[in-house]
Amino acid sequence: MNTLHMNEMSWIAYRDRIARDNSPIFLPVGALEQHGPHLPLGTDALLASAAAASAAGLVDGIVAPALSYGYKSQPKCGGGQHFCGTTSLDAQTLIGQMCDAVREFARHGVKKLVVLNGHYENQWFLIEGIDLALRELGAKSQLRVMRLEYWDFMTNDTLAAVFPTGFPGFALEHAAVIETSIMLYYHPQLVRLDLLPDDAPADFPPYDIHPLNPAWVPASGVLSSARGANAEKGRLMAEEVAKRIADAVQAEFG
Ligand code: ZN
Ligand code: MN
Repeated sequence: MNTLHMNEMSWIAYRDRIARDNSPIFLPVGALEQHGPHLPLGTDALLASAAAASAAGLVDGIVAPALSYGYKSQPKCGGGQHFCGTTSLDAQTLIGQMCDAVREFARHGVKKLVVLNGHYENQWFLIEGIDLALRELGAKSQLRVMRLEYWDFMTNDTLAAVFPTGFPGFALEHAAVIETSIMLYYHPQLVRLDLLPDDAPADFPPYDIHPLNPAWVPASGVLSSARGANAEKGRLMAEEVAKRIADAVQAEFG
């Protein structure tokens, strides 16, 4: 039985893969966060996990279970913390999770770790967790970590094809065309196209106010319309992302 998924392997099978093949480990990181009425709360972790599995399949990698809770949702990129269902971590908790995971993979003898982020707000806390772990492991550690946001692997040509009338930017893409399309490709049974909201795009001032004003955020939680999302666009983005992540892993880790 061959599986990409660490949590489906025995410890013996996993140990042998690390020792014999020096396989890269992919660690997806997501969030439990509202994604409008049409996408599930787990979208960021589901998409990071799907991208990780697709890329891992191209480089003989192993996919670890996702860290499935993320840093606090921000109004301008995730809608904010006022939505029921959004379940977020304090920064030090996420930093601690990331740091502990890196330390444990190093203990297993892993030399190639790919941290694949699917939730905008996580970025700097993942960097901090990785940095603290590597500092603790010291110069003799052989572990190297690649950290990435999967959407950065989409080319301008693909974005132009997905957004024929202009790309609104990744932050406003929360629960919109990109995430909805890729969910339609990987998890069509979890998407409710009949519930697609049609709010105007959110229009934020160039500053934040704390505590946040929920009136800034469309009531649906979607920051720009998901109209125009379809599975074919999802396939285009998902295949490009997986291929280009795999190429980066090959280039850096061999
Ligand atoms: Zn998302
Ligand atoms: Mn998110």
